[in-house]
Amino acid sequence: MLDCHLLDTGYCIVSESQMIQGGQQRKIHCHAIVALLRHPTQGWLLWDTGYAPRMIEAMRPWPYRIYALATPLHARPEQAVVKQLPRWGLHAEDIHHIILSHFHADHLAGLRDFPDATPIATRAGYEAVAGRTGLAALRRAVLPVLLPEDFTARALLLATPFRGPPLPGLGPTHDLFGDGLLRLVELPGHARGQVGLLAQTTQGPRLFAADGAWLSQAIREQRPPAAITRLFVDDFQAVTETLRRLHEFARACPEVLILPTHCPEIFEREVKPWPPALSP
Ligand SMILES: [Zn+2]
Ligand SMILES: [Zn+2]
Repeated sequence: MLDCHLLDTGYCIVSESQMIQGGQQRKIHCHAIVALLRHPTQGWLLWDTGYAPRMIEAMRPWPYRIYALATPLHARPEQAVVKQLPRWGLHAEDIHHIILSHFHADHLAGLRDFPDATPIATRAGYEAVAGRTGLAALRRAVLPVLLPEDFTARALLLATPFRGPPLPGLGPTHDLFGDGLLRLVELPGHARGQVGLLAQTTQGPRLFAADGAWLSQAIREQRPPAAITRLFVDDFQAVTETLRRLHEFARACPEVLILPTHCPEIFEREVKPWPPALSP
């Protein structure tokens, strides 16, 4: 079993009407949750890296400013993952692996704070963003400056499709350390090569669903995001299909808690705001 801690790295403001079809015209705080996990033999690892102050810098030049205008960001320096590690007596060098669900900036911004860690992602995910700059990058919600220069030298890039034993609804998996504790599963549609992570934690099994769904409600009701999100998702039809598959998984495995990275419902129930002064 793994110890599991959920970290709040800040939030952006999005209209509910964009996040889910039939949503209201009200603004929602979409936090970027990161999971800090301790594997019994492999040590500490991260699921995604969330927001970090350098993302605000990265969004200043044109055309990347469009990203900031589309989703106004509220991320305080002390919310960066690397700044929160001392809460567990840890420092950057204690993190051995970083699993990247996909390469969107809100999952990647903290990566440069961990120069010694091994990033893990799909090769398909990396190749879809590699070398892109300007509008071609923005079109994929990528801020190129967030990716370290030595990324490919350090990274473990996984071949897809996965071939390991399947999960109900979700299909084949990749068993990261061969012990069944961390199993990656493909969640196509939102971003090329996106993966989710089924982790066996001391609090029970958890499926980190990244942006396979933005809201838990979307999985329950199989309601896709608004059509306008077609502008930057990889394959809108696959987004809808992934929601259906997550729904099927949820029905087959009700004991697994599914955590979409940005779901306010999950945030309120499962995450302790940081710093504590930010609590409502
Ligand atoms: Zn994303
Ligand atoms: Zn995201």
